Amino acid sequence: MKPIQLDGSSGGGQMLRTALSLAMVTGQPFRMTNIRGKRPRPGLMRQHLTCVRAACEISGGTADGAEIGSTELVFRAGKVRGGSYHFAIGTAGSTTLLFQTLLPALWQAAEASTLTLEGGTHNPMAPPFEFIDRVFLPAMARMGGIASVTLASAGFAPAGGGALQASIHSSPKLQRIELMARGEPGEARIRVLSRHLPLSIGGRMLDAALELIPSKDAAVESCEPGPGAGICCLVEAEFGELRELTSSFGEQGVSAEKVGHHAAKAMKDFIGCGAPVGRCLADQLLLPMAIAGGGRFATMAPDAHVPTNIAVIEKFLPLRFRIQKGERGVHVIEAG
Ligand code: ATP
Repeated sequence: MKPIQLDGSSGGGQMLRTALSLAMVTGQPFRMTNIRGKRPRPGLMRQHLTCVRAACEISGGTADGAEIGSTELVFRAGKVRGGSYHFAIGTAGSTTLLFQTLLPALWQAAEASTLTLEGGTHNPMAPPFEFIDRVFLPAMARMGGIASVTLASAGFAPAGGGALQASIHSSPKLQRIELMARGEPGEARIRVLSRHLPLSIGGRMLDAALELIPSKDAAVESCEPGPGAGICCLVEAEFGELRELTSSFGEQGVSAEKVGHHAAKAMKDFIGCGAPVGRCLADQLLLPMAIAGGGRFATMAPDAHVPTNIAVIEKFLPLRFRIQKGERGVHVIEAG
């Protein structure tokens, strides 16, 4: 079969991960050129390469160009087999993004799977473990895609050293999803996860978040023991049957107050927009929704991942996406 041609220059690692998932689910090979073409260090980094190698292993597939720094890859999947797998990224690269790459394929396997993934579990620019557990997987369960995750140990960038375990049921037929209305808001929950940093830093971060999102369920939790220092702020709230979790990560030179404020502001913006689906979940729903054959949801103004992800999905699957802008910045994304 002739590979589907994809130009990766308009996006980041997400385009590659979406293509890997779809190649395994549909059996269609692809050639991606200009992988992460406009990123400061283009090409495959350790976390992307681990996704490619893991995809080869679970699907008996082959990859040409699977090397660090490679900007071109040809991937052909074989038959996906469930089972017990262990993949170590070798850096603080995101285990949650690796999990999301393998999940749609393993749902289609006849057997159940267990995964142990080592690397980062709390990285900036990726879903933190709690987002997968509390937001993404519950949304997937509504579509009939069943999986659960446990955090064996937290891994913060740059040290890594975390581990995520996942249990994936065979869920070969996903159902369409329709998420158009938001339920009544419940009490917010705020957690600062901190490792090898003075307690006062976590306290300042929590107080800054509480200024914007008042909550009686707010605490600083220690993630010790473990390698390297790290801190993040997680703000979670329920809206009827759906949940949203916003997050922000500590960085050298950025005050604790700013990090706490950033996570809480993201939640405040979400509350203000009135849509049921947050910006990150919107981007992560596109692929499962397309595999299910369609669906629709209302969300906030989409980020840059949405058009690039859609462009990849429409190359593999015979369906089209439509995005309609409504009131107060709410957008409806529909596929069918
Ligand atoms: P690159 O290094 O090329 O930019 P990448 O592999 O690091 O690529 P992106 O292509 O930017 O990653 O994709 C990141 C993914 O993580 C997106 O699906 C995005 O929705 C998700 N994500 C980022 N931040 C969060 C967050 N705070 N909460 C939930 N999901 C997040």
